[in-house]
Amino acid sequence: MIKIPDTLKHLLTQIQQSAIIIHRNPDGDALGSGLALKQYLQKRDIKVDLVSPNEIPNYLKWLPGINDVLIFEQQTQKIQEILKNSQLIFTLDFNDLSRVGKDFEKYLKTLKDRTFVMIDHHLEPADYAKFKLSDSSKSSTSEMVYDFISALDGSNLIDQDMATCLYTGIMTDTGSFKFPNTTPHTMCIAADLMKKGINHNDIQIKIYDSFSLDKLHLLGEALNKLIFLPQYKTAYIALSRSDLKKHHYQKGDTEGFVNYGLSLKDADFAVMFLENEQEGVRISFRSKGNFPANAFAKRYFNGGGHKNAAGGRTQTNLDEAVQLFLEKLPEFITELQAKND
Ligand code: 5GP
Ligand code: MN
Repeated sequence: MIKIPDTLKHLLTQIQQSAIIIHRNPDGDALGSGLALKQYLQKRDIKVDLVSPNEIPNYLKWLPGINDVLIFEQQTQKIQEILKNSQLIFTLDFNDLSRVGKDFEKYLKTLKDRTFVMIDHHLEPADYAKFKLSDSSKSSTSEMVYDFISALDGSNLIDQDMATCLYTGIMTDTGSFKFPNTTPHTMCIAADLMKKGINHNDIQIKIYDSFSLDKLHLLGEALNKLIFLPQYKTAYIALSRSDLKKHHYQKGDTEGFVNYGLSLKDADFAVMFLENEQEGVRISFRSKGNFPANAFAKRYFNGGGHKNAAGGRTQTNLDEAVQLFLEKLPEFITELQAKND
């Protein structure tokens, strides 16, 4: 259960305008939780806008309500005006303002007197929010938004569209209910969302069985490039700018690729390097069992995340990023060689 302070409950009966902000490069959980919370607040007659720092990936463009999401990179002035007039600003699915990108972060820091509400399941939450609903034991922010709405006695307001959004967030953050973050409570929520009339098979198909031929060819390229280092139980893939170009890369096309490394029998750590136009090299880290993928991301790649799923970046070129990784891997050899239960 989620504990909502009485002062926040009271504020929700007073305010007229609010905003919801999700992290840069939004995923199913960020958008699913954001869209559901938006619809809930609207049902309570609170004006609300949902803001994504940058564009929505194609594979999520079917979510109910997605066309009303505002994009900070494209509508900066309008969004600044909205945020100035918002009495409550919800931040979903991130633990630190840096996760919205430099320019947006800078602007948010000028809004210190606004009341921020963090709803998030990442470790080490920063201190910008007056109301910090942070719980890293939760599968997803969507699970927390479900609990948030329930704790406000709003379960009956969750309709089919909201349920579709929340289910998508939970499904994507749990790898379709297979990651260790899936709990009995997660399953109870999924069951309740099913009772709201969602088409779970259709959601699965829209997310996982709707790939373009280019994406599958890029996956072929990535799998051919997979390297396994048995002594470190580590598998990695490095995709260059020209690999992406060859297969007409669209944002989101590499979603899920990193997990293939972990599907190797003896791999406990999988990494994918992606050389990207704007952001230097983006790195995704995944692990099985106890190996802390987020520790690696944080120490050497300006990132962080969860124990089993983390991300980071460098401004170097691809070869340098891979070199740095290979150079630092031996520091983790004890943890990597430990029996992983
Ligand atoms: P992905 O590899 O899918 O981009 O990221 C995996 C997970 O790591 C995300 O769910 C997110 O929680 C976390 N993550 C990704 N990038 C960063 C980052 O730069 N900083 C932090 N703290 N977490 C990140
Ligand atoms: Mn999440």
